[in-house]
Amino acid sequence: MGSEGAAFSKSRGEDERVSDCLFCKIVSKEIDAEILHESSEVLAFQDINPAAPTHVLVIPKRHIGSALDLGPDDGDLLVDLFETMTSMAKTAGLDNGHRLVTNVGSDGGQTVDHLRFHVLGGRSLSWPPG
Ligand code: AMP
Ligand code: ZN
Repeated sequence: MGSEGAAFSKSRGEDERVSDCLFCKIVSKEIDAEILHESSEVLAFQDINPAAPTHVLVIPKRHIGSALDLGPDDGDLLVDLFETMTSMAKTAGLDNGHRLVTNVGSDGGQTVDHLRFHVLGGRSLSWPPG
């Protein structure tokens, strides 16, 4: 992991829950969210401030700071995350397409220091993003 990633995120191995992490608190149910799917490794819930008619967040239950912190042992987790995103898109009936986004770092627009994928759809999405 590069020094930039280390500065922004918790390091690998610091895993599991991070006590001041908003999304870890949603995983532990300390903070309420509208949960749509839960498995042993992955949680999906409604974004509190939706940017599109469908806006679902798909996260690993284990604390991972961002995509910068993924490694060779995370293959199965990534498959689980992407299968969940597809399931969320299908359940929402996004037959005309959707967008999967993960923001990384401050310039990338990351506001919560826990890996998350946004599943956005239900309207025509412009490109490039702002
Ligand atoms: P990002 O900006 O990529 O870090 O994504 C963070 C997302 O989390 C934003 O889209 C927020 O609207 C969303 N968010 C923040 N707090 C909550 C919450 N308590 N429940 C659900 N979504 C949240
Ligand atoms: Zn976390």
